[in-house]
Order: sequence, then C-alpha cells, then structure tokens
Amino acid sequence: MHDRTRPNSDRPASSQGLSSQEARRRYALYGPNQLPESTGESPLLIFLHQFNSPFIYVLLAAALVSLILNQQLNAVFILFVLLINASIGTVQEYSAQRAAVALNKMVPQYASVLRDGITQKVEAAELVPGDIVFLITGDRVAADLRLIECHDLLVDESLLTGESLAASKQSGVCSGDDSPLAERKDCAFAGTIVTHGRALGEVIATGVRSEIGQIAAEVTESDHIKPPLLKRIERFTLRISYGILVVIALLFVITLLRGADLQEVFLLGVALAVSAIPEGLPAAITVALAIGMRRMARASVIVRRLIAVESLGSCTYIASDKTGTLTVNEMTVKLIILPDERRYSVSGEGLDMHGELHCLSGGERALLPPDADKDLANLVRCGMLANEASLVLHQGEWVASGDGVDLAFLVLSSKLGFDHQQVEHLYPELQRIPYESENAFSASLNRVEGKLIIHVKGSAEKVLMMCRRDPVRPEPWEVRIEHQMLAMARKGFRVLACASGEVDVGNTDLLAVLKGLHFLGLIGMIDPLRPEAYAAVEQCRLSNIDVAMITGDHPQTALALAQELNIADAGSVPVTGDDVRRAIERDETLQEQGKPSTAMQTLVNSSRVFARIEPSQKLQIVQQLIRNGHFVAVTGDGVNDAPALRHAHVGIAMGKRGTDVARESAELIITDDNFASIVQGIKQGRLVYSNIRKVIFLLISTGAAEITLFILSVVFMLPIPLFPIQLLWLNLVTNGIQDVALAFEPEEGDELRRPPRPPKETIFNRLMLERVFVNAVVMGGLAFTVFAWQLHNGVAVETARNMTLLLMVLFENVHVLNSRSETKSIFKQNFFGNPFLLFGMLAAQSVHIAALYTPGLSDVLQVEPVTLESWSTSLSVALVLIVVDELHKLYWEKRKPLFTQCRTGDDRPPTG
Ligand code: ADP
Ligand code: MG
Repeated sequence: MHDRTRPNSDRPASSQGLSSQEARRRYALYGPNQLPESTGESPLLIFLHQFNSPFIYVLLAAALVSLILNQQLNAVFILFVLLINASIGTVQEYSAQRAAVALNKMVPQYASVLRDGITQKVEAAELVPGDIVFLITGDRVAADLRLIECHDLLVDESLLTGESLAASKQSGVCSGDDSPLAERKDCAFAGTIVTHGRALGEVIATGVRSEIGQIAAEVTESDHIKPPLLKRIERFTLRISYGILVVIALLFVITLLRGADLQEVFLLGVALAVSAIPEGLPAAITVALAIGMRRMARASVIVRRLIAVESLGSCTYIASDKTGTLTVNEMTVKLIILPDERRYSVSGEGLDMHGELHCLSGGERALLPPDADKDLANLVRCGMLANEASLVLHQGEWVASGDGVDLAFLVLSSKLGFDHQQVEHLYPELQRIPYESENAFSASLNRVEGKLIIHVKGSAEKVLMMCRRDPVRPEPWEVRIEHQMLAMARKGFRVLACASGEVDVGNTDLLAVLKGLHFLGLIGMIDPLRPEAYAAVEQCRLSNIDVAMITGDHPQTALALAQELNIADAGSVPVTGDDVRRAIERDETLQEQGKPSTAMQTLVNSSRVFARIEPSQKLQIVQQLIRNGHFVAVTGDGVNDAPALRHAHVGIAMGKRGTDVARESAELIITDDNFASIVQGIKQGRLVYSNIRKVIFLLISTGAAEITLFILSVVFMLPIPLFPIQLLWLNLVTNGIQDVALAFEPEEGDELRRPPRPPKETIFNRLMLERVFVNAVVMGGLAFTVFAWQLHNGVAVETARNMTLLLMVLFENVHVLNSRSETKSIFKQNFFGNPFLLFGMLAAQSVHIAALYTPGLSDVLQVEPVTLESWSTSLSVALVLIVVDELHKLYWEKRKPLFTQCRTGDDRPPTG
C-alpha cells in the first residue's frame, strides 16, 4: 500500500507509459539511474587513522624510550604489536563501513511509474528516460522530469540551487534547457524534495546525465561522523592516560629518590603506560556497535547512524503512529450509514473484491442488489471520485497502488458492481484537492451530466462542517449523525464522511466552494491491529517503557484501539490537537505573566493517546516529552513528521509506508513498519550497551590490576614484576583475543525486563566502579603475593616473572567469564552461549603455551616452559577470582534495591 496518485483522468488516455519491454531496452541503453557511489574512506586512510590516538602516542614514546635505553628488542616488539593492532582495527572499521553501506542498500528508494498502462512501484535505479513518474508530497525526485501535470506542486531545490524556499512548479510553461535551474518551472530535478502537492512528469535524464549527476562529486561525499558514545569513551580513555602519566611521574620520582637505576625506572614507566592504557577499547566498541547493527537488521531495524544502536536501547518512551505501525494498514469498509440513518453492512476483507452488502434496518439483514439504493450509489460514487488510488486488473490480477483509505473506497465500489475506471471516464475530473494529512479530506471537481459537482470525502467532523448551514445551532439530523459517528468510533471504526455540491461555472477557487454541501453519509472502516502488537506493548510495559499513540484519527477511534492494546485503560481521556493548541497558548500567557508554565507538561503527562493531532503538533508533543525527562523514540512517515523525527532522541521511519523525506530524517528505519520490530530493536540496543560495558569492565579492571601489582612492588621495593614487553603481550595478544569476543555475547535473557537505564547514567556507575575495584585489587594483590613469595623463597627473578605472567594470563582467562554478566552468577549462564569467547580463551592459552616453547619468541618475552604442577597451582590461584566476583554479585543482589532507583511513575497513568 503506497501513497501514490493514480493517473489523472484528463490526461490523454493513449498515454500508457512505456511498455516493460521498451523500459528494459532503454535500461540496457542508458544504464541504471544511479550516481557513482561514495566509496567511503580508503583502507589506507583508515589504517593511518589507527595511529592517530593518544594511546598510540604514548606507546610510540615507549618504543622511543626503549630505543634510547638500548632495548631494541623491546622497541621492535612494541612497534610490531602496534602494527598488528592497527591492522586489526583497519579490518574491523573497514568491514563496519562496508556493512553500513550494504544496510543502506536494504532500503532502496522507490518511484511510482506508469508502465504498460498501470501504476507500479519500481526501484528508482530502474527508471529510464521516457518513463512517466508520479510525484507526491514527501518524495525525493528520482530523476530529472519534465512536468506533464501539476497540482500545487512545491519542490525544495536547496540541494541544487541553495534556495531554501520551496519552488512552485507548473507544467506547460516553456523554459529553455539552458536557462538557470531555478527558472525552469516545468521541470523537477533528481534529488530535490516534493514538499507539497502532486505531479506527473516524464523522465528526461537519469543517473550521471541528470543535473545532480553533473555535480555528484560534491553531494555523494558522506561525512564520517563518530558515534558520540565512541567519542565519550575516547575522552574517558584520554583522561585515564593523563592519570596514568601522573602516577608514573610519582613512581618515577619515588624510585629515583630511593636511588634506583635510571634505566630501570624508565622501564617501569614504559611498562605502566603500556599496562594501564586500554588499547583495545575503541576497536572492541566499534565491533560491538557493528554487531548490534547487524543483529538489528535481522530484526527488520536498519540503523542509519551507528549511535542509534545504543540510543534505542536507552529509550524510555515510544510515541508510535497508529495507522500502519500498530495496525496492518489494510482498511476495509464495514459499515455505511446514510443521512436518514439507513444502515448497511459490508462483508469481505482487505483487497478481496468479493463481499456482500446487507441492509441492517429493522434488525434484519437483507441481501441487497447493488443498484437498489440510489443514495448509497451516490455516496459510493463520491468516494470513488475524490480518490487518488488505482486498482486495475492486469493479467488476471488486481494491481493496487495508493492510500489505504482510497483503496478501501475502490474495493467498496467494486463490491457494488461499479467499474470505477468507467465512472472516472464518465465524470471527468477538472480540478482536485489531493489528500494531505493536515487537511484530513480530499476533493475532486467533476463534470456530471453538464453540471460541475464537487465531491468531498474526509474526516466526519470536517465534512459535517462543510455541510452545516447554521453555524451556531446544528440541525437535528446533524446531531443524530454525530451520535452515529461517535458510536462507530467507539467501536474502533475509522469514520469518514462524503458530501457533494454543485459549483457555479467560473468559480475556480475550490476551497471557497467547500460549504453548504449536501451530506451523503458515513463510512466506517476497520483497520485491524497487528497481532504482534499486543505482545510488543506488553513487553514495553514489563520493561518500564511508556507507549503512546499519536494519530490524526478521531479520539474515540484511537482510544478504542489503544484500549484494545492496553496502551490506555477504560478511564483514559485522549488528548486532542485542540487541547495541545490551548495548552501552548496558556503556557505562553503564563510565561508573559512571569508565572511557571506547566499546562503543556501536565497535558502531555495526562494521557497516552493523542488524537486528531496535526503533524506540526507532533513536534510540540515530542519536545515536551523530552523536557519531561523522557528519552523519546518517535515513529513517523510523512513529510511533516520530519521535524519530530529529527528532534526525538531516536527518530524511527517506516520503510514501506514512509516518505523519502521521513526516512532521511530518521536514525532508524523499520523495514516492515511493525511496532513489534521497534521493541526487538530496543532489546538489541540494550544488549549492545551491556556488551560494551562488559568489554570496558574487562579492559579497565585488568589494567587496574596490573597497576596494583606495580604499585605494590614499588611500595615493597621489589624489582619490576613484569617487563613492558610482557605486559604488551598480555594486553594486546592474549587479552586482545578475548575482549572482542565479549562484544559477541548473546542476550542474557532479561534485556527487556530491566527498566531503561536512566538517560544521564554514565558507564562508570556504582556497580562498575565496585566491580573494577574488587576484581583489580584481588587480581593485582594475588599476583603480587605470588611474585613476592617466590622472590622470598630465593627463586630467580626471571622465573618469578615467568610465573607471574602465566598467572596473569590465567587470571584474564577466568576474568572473561566473570565479565560475561554484571549481576548473573556464571553458574547460571550458558557456558557455551558464546563460541567466540570459548575459542578466545582456548586461543589465548594455546598462544601463550606455544610462546613458552617457541625459541625466538620465548627469548623476546623472557619466558620459559613451566611444569604441569605449577600451571595447575597458578590456575587454582586464578580461580579465586571467580569466587570473589561471585560473592560480590551475591552481595550486590542483596543491596540492589538501595541503588537501582526506578522511576516512581507518579505521572504515569495506570495502564492495563
Ligand atoms: P493516521 O494518524 O491514522 O495516519 P491520518 O492523519 O492519516 O491519520 O488521517 C487523519 C484523518 O484524515 C482520518 O481520520 C480520516 O478521517 C482522514 N483521511 C485519512 N486518509 C484519507 C484519505 N485518503 N482521504 C480523505 N480523508 C482521509
Ligand atoms: Mg495516515
């Protein structure tokens, strides 16, 4: 179901568009309608970027110092490890970039074209010169077009001309091909945006031959923006680096004052710099985000900006569209009420043309022949004419294109036996007001038996207003019809009304004739709720995420559906667009009087159902929600939704229904338009965040453990417990294999059951700090004890270092197991849940053991083989870490209620 126009009836009937055969021929001739792709950063550039980091500077300095101290081996090893590190980073970043490009391709741009006489949706890349293309509000024009027909077309051409005001277009005015773009009123250019109206145009240039193709180089350049999370973490590591430099300086002074050898002290500084700096962090985080991106794509959520992976996870409020997101967007007319309150029911579902009409008067259902009721026929004809959809039989199949409401009217007319193409032909359209959601109606001026008749269909209130004769006192029939309308809306029907009226010849201002019309009747449509939506809303309730519905539909219709879904309860009162307008006015006057303005704040908190909301008001609601402290995700599909999408913390556009503009304004695109996918996306977002925390915990706590080990050694005046080269080995090789594996951790299962994390919470919250402290002190303390104990027993210092290094490798092996969950005991986790991690542990052990036996390497690392006995003794020491961390987890679980502050939710209306 795509919001597209039908071919207008006053276009020459001969125009069938290209035949698909001809289109194929031209495609072979002209090639795809595409601009050369932006290739992104080259691998070489990415590689060079890897060295542009403060950690790397410190390590390079360390290599330099080693050289000066005549420790060539050390220097070479540092450089070697840096190269490996940079290569891994390059591969990861490059593949993340590729993945992002591939994901963008999953949401191709479509164009609505006329081919073989029918309107169809094709990928914009398949357009060829000569194609007849339809434009509608919200489209990004797919190729250069000469306009054949225009209805109030406004196009934003700022991309080409720099002019920010939308240009008005007209067909038929002749402008030379060499006049400036801004003056070519009869053309719409590729890349520009339709902000209003409808049009029909013929493709005159595609791909690189289009105007934008000529300047493509400037436009396709995509800017490379780092996700804020990454920036935050980089800033944080920078701070750590400074801190470490201070510690190093202190130790340096202390040891020098004690009269230690200068070379030894330098080595110590290098070693500390190496151990404490979390070199692997940026790479691991990029990987975690990229994995999240891929997992989300599998859940039909396409991430346009990497940051959204994380931000979707912290969302506390989802403001969702109704039509198409919570419902299936397949509207079927079920009930008709004529002005004299004769009622008809209609059977059949969706686009199925089979259905019967029953008269419901007198409690009796009578099957009705289509032509039995003239009033009914008038009503249906009106809905058929004020209509932009197309529904044609093509090779034995119905091909539908257009808005769901419009299609429902066409299906209804078929059920009554009308041939709508014949009707359109019989009553030619002279002018029209296309449906725009801020108007909530559409109209068409047709010639009917020599007279000019305007046909209107739209929201019942709007149409009734157009029929009203006495502006103050409604007539009795109006009151009755309003009752009927409300009764239908309360049952969840989307209620539309139709009206028509004669227009004087010569009266061309269509808006001016929309009064004193003749009321034709009410139409009740059902758009079923998506079956998955129930569970998804329940899921949100369990995760403490508020769900609200924002719709242009009638408050009672919205309420009925919201109640059905448990978004609202029986006592809920919907907030309407009028309420919003009044609250904002009230706040303005209060502000002028210098009083606190809280009308809007209270209003937005008072309900989860927002109805008859104009697109521009959506932004106001979102802004207020943000001011109220929510982390807001908003869905949208129309052009007018773009500001709300941009302002929300997470803008979510609909892949199928959404306009190009909405999709370009959003961070996320839901390819199946389904509310349930958003919830899946949130789960993945939370998972990414918790995996990032796991990686950070692992890296920071081992770094801190190494520092602890060194500080203790200095305090107790022992020699340096590990050489810089050994620390590098530990951090970059054995540990490096494992930290990235943590980014692949599967869900712990309760991702959606936790409350959203407070939007302002930092990664280093209390839990993280405690765990880092406990684990680092135990790891560092035990390693020091083993080192000191050996020296005490007269073991050679080289051997003691060898054992300490082995112990650290083993520590890190068990430590990754601790890192898999912040709160869950490792005995409650699926040990085989993350094959990467198991592989990482095995690999780390094997690599280390191999190093002990590899001649050249063991010399560089100054290690030697150990007996199985000392290996298992070390392992049992390492296992102590698990016991300690398990105890801390238990302890945390006990105290948890003190620290996890749930939002009290006083402002939250009870749901369900
Ligand atoms: P939603 O938030 O459900 O998408 P819309 O903004 O699309 O709501 O529609 C608002 C109102 O406009 C509807 O309640 C209906 O009365 C009217 N309307 C919707 N579609 C059409 C259409 N194609 N033609 C005329 N009126 C329409
Ligand atoms: Mg709509």
